[in-house]
Amino acid sequence: MRILVTGGAGYIGSHTCILLVEAGYDIVVFDNFCNASKESILRVDKIVGKTIPLIEGDIRNKEDLTRAFEAYAIDAVIHFAGLKAVGESVEKPLAYYDNNIYGTLILCEVMAAHGCKSIVFSSSATVYGDPHSTPITEDFPLSATNPYGRSKLFIEEMLRDLYVSDSEWQIILLRYFNPIGAHESGTIGEDPNGIPNNLLPFIAQTAIGTRACLSVFGDDYDTVDGTGVRDYIHVMDLADGHVKALDKMHTFSEVMTINLGTGKGYSVLEVLKAFERTSGKNVPYVIAPRRTGDIASCFADPSYAQKILQWRAKRGIEEMCKDSWRWQSSNPNGYKC
Ligand code: NAD
Ligand code: UDP
Repeated sequence: MRILVTGGAGYIGSHTCILLVEAGYDIVVFDNFCNASKESILRVDKIVGKTIPLIEGDIRNKEDLTRAFEAYAIDAVIHFAGLKAVGESVEKPLAYYDNNIYGTLILCEVMAAHGCKSIVFSSSATVYGDPHSTPITEDFPLSATNPYGRSKLFIEEMLRDLYVSDSEWQIILLRYFNPIGAHESGTIGEDPNGIPNNLLPFIAQTAIGTRACLSVFGDDYDTVDGTGVRDYIHVMDLADGHVKALDKMHTFSEVMTINLGTGKGYSVLEVLKAFERTSGKNVPYVIAPRRTGDIASCFADPSYAQKILQWRAKRGIEEMCKDSWRWQSSNPNGYKC
C-alpha cells in the first residue's frame, strides 16, 4: 500500500515516515520545505536503510500534486502539511487560510481525481478552545481563538462535508495534544525556525546555551503549581498512532475523530524539572506574564483511541525529555551544520 505523506519532511511527518516504512508501507514524501530541511529525509533514509521517494511541491499547486499522483499509485494520504505557528497566524491570517484550508481543498480535489479517497488529517487539541473541564473527550464543544485553530476547525468541517457528499471517502481526524521528544537515535527531531514558540524546544535551547533564560508564561493559573498544564506526548507514540489509524482505516464506516494524547497533564515547572533531571542541565527561568490566548489546562481522555485503534502512548515524560535532549545536544544547530 502506497501512502503520500504531505509535510513528511517536518517534525511529526519525518518521525511517522520511519514507522510507516518499518510497518511495511511504501511511502512518498511531498513537501515544499517552507518549514523543513531535506536533511531530515536524508536522515530518515539512513534510519530505515532505504531511499524514500521525495517530491518537492506545494499542496496548493494542482500540477505539483498531479505529478505525485501520476508518478505513483497512491492509496491513501497522511496530511501533515500546514503552517502551525499560532502567533504568526494572528499576524498573517490569510496566509494560514490559504496554505492550510485552500491547500487541503486542492489536495482533496486531486485525490478524488485520481480515485484516492482515504486521508488521515493532522488536527489539533486547539479545536477544543478553552475546554470547560479536563480530561477532554472527542465530543467536547469546539471553538477557536486564532486563525491557526480556525483553519483546523474549517478543515475538519470540510472533510466531514466531503464524506456526506460521497461515503467512499475514508477520513480520520487525529487531534494531537502536545508532541515533544525525538527519535531515539538523536538524528532527527524538532528544528524550529528562529525563536521557538513551544515549550520543549525553548527549554532545550536554553539548556544548550542558545537562549539565556526560559520565560514561564504565568504562575497564577488554577493548576498544581500555577503554571499551565498540557498533555505532552512523545512524537514516536504520536507517529505510532498514525500507523494504527491507517491499519484500521478500512474498518470504519464514518468520519473518525480521535484524540492522540497520554491522558496525563504536566505543568510547565514539572516539565522543566523533568528536563533538568534527565539532562543533568540547569535551565534558568523567570516567571513572566501570561501569554495571550493561553489556557490553564488541557489534557486528553485518550480512551477512544485505545478502544478504536488499540493504541496508547507508551513513553513517559522522562523519556520525552531525554530524547529531546539527545537530539538537541547532538545537533545544537538542528539540521543546519
Ligand atoms: P512542521 O512545520 O514541522 O511540518 C509541516 C511540514 O509541512 C513542513 O515540512 C513544511 O515544509 C510542510 N508544508 C507546509 N505547507 C506546505 C505546503 N503548502 N505544501 C507542501 N508542504 C508544506 O510541523 P509539525 O509539527 O510536524 O506538524 C505537522 C502537522 O501537525 C501540522 O498540520 C500541524 O498543524 C499539526 N499539529 C502540530 C502540532 C505540534 O505541536 N507540532 C500539534 C497539533 C497539530
Ligand atoms: N510556555 C512557557 N514558556 C515558553 C513556551 C511555552 O511557559 O517559552 C508554556 C505555555 O504558556 C503553555 C505550555 O508552556 O502553558 C505549552 O506551550 P506550547 O506553546 O508548547 O504549547 P500550546 O500552548 O500550544 O499547548
